[in-house]
Amino acid sequence: MNGGVIAIDGPAGTGKSSVSKLLAHKVGAHYLDTGAMYRAATLAVQRAGVDPADADAVAATVDAADIALRPNGDGSSRVFLDGEDVSGPIRSDAVTAAVSAVSAVPAVRTKLVALQRRQAESELLVVEGRDIGTVVFPDAAIKIFLTASPEARAERRHRQNLAAGRPSDHVEVLAAVNRRDHLDSTRAVSPLRQANDAVLVDTSDMTLDQVLDRLVELVRARIGVAS
Ligand code: C5P
Repeated sequence: MNGGVIAIDGPAGTGKSSVSKLLAHKVGAHYLDTGAMYRAATLAVQRAGVDPADADAVAATVDAADIALRPNGDGSSRVFLDGEDVSGPIRSDAVTAAVSAVSAVPAVRTKLVALQRRQAESELLVVEGRDIGTVVFPDAAIKIFLTASPEARAERRHRQNLAAGRPSDHVEVLAAVNRRDHLDSTRAVSPLRQANDAVLVDTSDMTLDQVLDRLVELVRARIGVAS
């Protein structure tokens, strides 16, 4: 199957990235991490010394930036900003704190959505984000919306931080997760929202393997590519 889309949306900390990568591998699809593109745009804004709240300056900076995702060979991908691999720097706390403001700027979304759609013309993709089933690919072959309680999501983020050797405070992580979800859900353009025809999966009490099994089952039932 060429050019099909498996859309996976949901807030931060639902296990979306981990399971999307594994699902892509399992069904022979490429994985598109749209959050990484918004993070690269945010890094461009920060490097230019632009205030993320200045929408016109953000739009101009991102318009001039060359943002690209390239496959890594293992199913994941690397993110490039003006030819530089920025896959590490886009995960900084500074980028995480500013990304919701940058991604709320309509011109930023227009540019990145066009890139995302172009990528899906030729390959089967698992596309992960916030507005994939609602806006970017409303005709996706299957739409999944992952959710989990704020506590479960903060706990996952906290453990990820510790595993990566980053300092982490549980209460602060919970506040940051809630703040970002609020901004992403209440913005005017393409807010985080479950599509009417998306299947809701609550991952609060599920292991990664259980979530993967459930998604493979859904994909197999819908488009018959997973074995
Ligand atoms: O998925 P990740 O946490 O890396 O996404 C970072 C941010 O990028 C989100 O908090 C959101 O502001 C933005 N985003 C978006 N639309 C997407 C994917 C991510 O606005 N499709």
